Amino acid sequence: AGPGDPDLLTIKAAKAIASATVLMVDDLVNPAVLAHAAPITRTIYVGKRGGCVSTPQALIEKLMVREAKAGHIVARIKGGDPYIFGRGGEELATLHAAGVACEVINGITSGLAAATQVGVPLTHRSHTQGVIFVTGHSKTELDPVNWAALAASGMTLVIYMGMTHAAHIQASLIAGGLNANTPAVVVQNAGGGSEGVPSQRCFMTLGTLAATIVRKGLKSPSIMVIGEVVQCGVDALQFNTEQAPMVLVA
Ligand code: SAH
Repeated sequence: AGPGDPDLLTIKAAKAIASATVLMVDDLVNPAVLAHAAPITRTIYVGKRGGCVSTPQALIEKLMVREAKAGHIVARIKGGDPYIFGRGGEELATLHAAGVACEVINGITSGLAAATQVGVPLTHRSHTQGVIFVTGHSKTELDPVNWAALAASGMTLVIYMGMTHAAHIQASLIAGGLNANTPAVVVQNAGGGSEGVPSQRCFMTLGTLAATIVRKGLKSPSIMVIGEVVQCGVDALQFNTEQAPMVLVA
């Protein structure tokens, strides 16, 4: 479903939603994308919207198999891209184990949407040779992310699920040799997020990352981008993209 803005849905995803008889909708999905659904379609919410506890992953997978085996065309709708921290791989494995065929349709992952929205070209060749998408929230207590290696890589870092560990990430990257003056940006609710609210953005440096998040009250869901390319976003701040006479399209 992309990052929120229903206009950022792919045409292929819109067609899939339109042809489904059952929708299984996650957290982080803007309900506006469901406007593509046929009127008879049944919708099952499996996220924690409305303050309820989220549905356990195993139960979601069971439901997917059950609905498909009952003869339904099931559209499982996730925020961003299904394969970028979206558990798409786990769900596909379960479906295949149950003998259910499944097509996976790309979405614009929030890390891409966030960067573009704030004028940051993630792989600008004057600044970096690549980009790394990494989770800031590991499953285990012992952080398995090698932040020192990431600091040494010279790559742009796009960090998902990092908000509660910002201080740890900041300290680990600086300990790994990344300059504390490296520009950084946090984007909350890129593309409007699941509520279709205005997104919040805040530019800072790596050395002020955690303190700025606290001071500005930035919350999840947010993306952090750290790297020299972020300076391009700072430089672009003077322009109003909403009335731009020029559009770059891919
Ligand atoms: N599959 C999703 C990611 C799911 S993991 C995708 O491709 O975007 C959940 C994390 O994604 C959040 O903790 C946050 O870091 C990020 N995220 C998801 N939607 C977001 C949004 N609209 N704005 C900013 N970050 C978002």
